[in-house]
Amino acid sequence: MTQTYDLVCIQCGTPLETGLRTCQVAEADGRRLTQALLRGCAVCAESGIKSNFTVKLDLSPLRADARRGVDALADRSAPGVWRWHRLLPAAPRFRVSLGEGNTPLVPLKRFGRRMGVPNLYVKDESRNPTWSYKDRLCAVGVSNALEFGAAVITVSSTGNHGAAAAAYAARAGLPCVVFTLDSTPDVMKTLMQAYGAYVVAMERPRDRWRLMGAMAGERGWYAISGFQIPPIGSNPFGIEGYKTIAFETLADLGAAPDWMVVPTAHGDGLTGVWKGWQELHELGLAPAPPKMAAAELNPSLEPALLNGEPAPRPGHEGQGRAAGAAGAAGAAGAAGAAATAATAGQLQDGGSAPASDAEPAAPDSPAFSIDVAIGTQQALAVLRRSGGRAVHVRSVDLIDLQRRLAEDEGIYAEASSLAGLAAVQRLAEEGALGADDVVVAVLTSTGLKDPGATAARLPAVPLIELDAGQLLDTLASVYGARLDT
Ligand SMILES: [Zn+2]
Repeated sequence: MTQTYDLVCIQCGTPLETGLRTCQVAEADGRRLTQALLRGCAVCAESGIKSNFTVKLDLSPLRADARRGVDALADRSAPGVWRWHRLLPAAPRFRVSLGEGNTPLVPLKRFGRRMGVPNLYVKDESRNPTWSYKDRLCAVGVSNALEFGAAVITVSSTGNHGAAAAAYAARAGLPCVVFTLDSTPDVMKTLMQAYGAYVVAMERPRDRWRLMGAMAGERGWYAISGFQIPPIGSNPFGIEGYKTIAFETLADLGAAPDWMVVPTAHGDGLTGVWKGWQELHELGLAPAPPKMAAAELNPSLEPALLNGEPAPRPGHEGQGRAAGAAGAAGAAGAAGAAATAATAGQLQDGGSAPASDAEPAAPDSPAFSIDVAIGTQQALAVLRRSGGRAVHVRSVDLIDLQRRLAEDEGIYAEASSLAGLAAVQRLAEEGALGADDVVVAVLTSTGLKDPGATAARLPAVPLIELDAGQLLDTLASVYGARLDT
């Protein structure tokens, strides 16, 4: 069965006006639809806000089965995220899968108790085919690319998104062009190239978006990540893939958690997970959806949420919490709003945007996967609608948490992934969590994506002789381990 759906603005609800039905389109129409879709909502743009579209499914065919529980909506014979194909937009013959999803929900008993959050879980997304949750996005996004007749997949990424797009494009038999940054770790570049993607690096983040946008606009390349300035988020079909995190979590827990925490750059994961919960809610399966928390490296969503501003504005890690709670927008806010309006206009014209503070010039945080200076409207909307929080986290804390999670619980996650647990820690410290609250943090990727950041804090492995005494001495001197009892 093919889903019936429409495409509407995530902010104002205006449907995408293309003169097309937005399901079961012919290939040529699909390409035109993709072009219109990726520019964002024209109505919101008139008021200076850049907003993404979202896929609005007709859930009515599911209501009867939903009365039997969430498992009744799953097709256990289908691969990967497509076990939830009744809630995902793709015709059967276009579905691409590498067996993504169905990742474990791992209770962190020891770690959680130390944090004062006894009911803490991680959704360990490092178990996906390319070891990150981007596989869910790319499974659905690349399937849509096939359905809409795309000839080339393109993506702008510092790693996880690029690797996933490359792998799923390979699986679909489509060429993939990845725009990355010169500063991206070599492991990530190798991974993207290993799947046969054509990888090019640029020095400035916004340059890759501009070039990718030009190729999408002029050549019809299918953009599976966003390229708008300021950003609106990724391809809405891809974002649908993240809904399956909510479906699986409900299936595992039997009820919605109180909080769901997602490391956030442009808010694709946050938006998709929340959308999953919203659909479960509409189907009567999640009477009380979780509050969503966005863990952000640079405070952009946090001040917008606290100050009731209409849109996020650029933030930088060094601003800290004080900036987030600064109250009135002030000079920085006015400057940010002006930059937003200017860049939005220039993008529409296809012109070149000037360098501004919209992105870090050269991201150097170990949490480079989420090191963006400005959040998105879609993320802000989720936080407002779920009664959630944006939480500013610090790079230095992420490396420490990476070590603690690996040593305490046996899970080695990418530094960016730890942003979710850093946010949980801060929410707990602030008393925002109830004593019995069930909290799920999405652990987005594996530490093996950037082992250099981990190795930098570890001692060199000592070389020893065939000597038990030297062994015990070395364990004590190098590792501080006293095992000679
Ligand atoms: Zn709109």
